[in-house]
Amino acid sequence: MWTSFLEQVAALGIARDEAQVAAFRKFHDTLLAENQYLNLTALSTTEGVQSKHFLDSLSGLPLLPDMPNLRVIDVGAGAGFPGIPLRIVRPDLHLTLLEATRKKTDFLRRLVEELSLSGVTVVWGRAEMVAHDPAHRERYDVALARAVAPLPTLLELLLPFCRLDGLCVAWKGPKGPDEAVAAERALGLLGGRLREVRPVHIPGDSGARFLIVVEKVGPTPDKYPRRPGMPAKRPL
Ligand code: SAH
Repeated sequence: MWTSFLEQVAALGIARDEAQVAAFRKFHDTLLAENQYLNLTALSTTEGVQSKHFLDSLSGLPLLPDMPNLRVIDVGAGAGFPGIPLRIVRPDLHLTLLEATRKKTDFLRRLVEELSLSGVTVVWGRAEMVAHDPAHRERYDVALARAVAPLPTLLELLLPFCRLDGLCVAWKGPKGPDEAVAAERALGLLGGRLREVRPVHIPGDSGARFLIVVEKVGPTPDKYPRRPGMPAKRPL
C-alpha cells in the first residue's frame, strides 16, 4: 500500500527520504486513530488519505518558489492539509497553520510534536482577526488554502497575509475555473492578479482538480478582511 504511494511521490520529482516516509506513515496513523473521535476527515482508508490528502497537498509543491526558508501560511488548515505534507518534503519551510476550531489546533499541535517538525507554528483563530495582527499581516511569501471557501471569499482571507510580490495558492475542484472568473472584482480590490489556473491530476483521484495561483501586485487596503463572517456573507 505504501509502495505505490512512494512511487507516486517519486513521480512528483521528490527524492526518497526515509525520514519523510516515516513522517507520512506516522501522520496517516495519527490521523486515522484520532479521527475515530475527532471527526477530522471523511476519508477512512489508507488509499483515500494517501491520494486525496497527501498527494493532493503535494500537487502544489512545484508552485512553491525555490528560495530557502520560505514563509508559508495555511489558512483553515483543518487536520494539516495542504501545509503539513508540503512541510514534510520541504523541511526548510517556515509554516504557520491557522485554524479556527480548537479541537483541530489541539490535534495539529500533537501532530507537529509527534512528527518532530521544526519551524511549524499552530495558531488558533479566525483569518479575519489574525490577518490584522502586524505579526502576520503581509508577512508571508505564500498563503495556501484548501477547501475553505469559494475564491472571492477566500482571497479576502488569504491576500492580507501575503507580502507584495508574494503568492496565494488555492486548491480547487471542478469549479476552479468558474471561481477564478467570479473572483475578478475581489482580485482588483485586494491587490491580487490571477497568474494561473493549473489543472492537476492526482493519482487515485478521478475528479478534476485545479490550483489557482494569484500574485500580490499591490497592498491590500487595511479594511480587509472585514469582520468575521462578512467575507463569506457578502463576498467581494
Ligand atoms: N484545509 C483542510 C481543512 C478544510 S475544512 C483540508 O483541506 O483538509 C475548512 C477548515 O477551515 C475548517 O477546519 C474550518 O474550521 C477552517 N476555517 C474556516 N473559516 C476559517 C477562518 N475564517 N479562519 C480560520 N479557519 C477557518
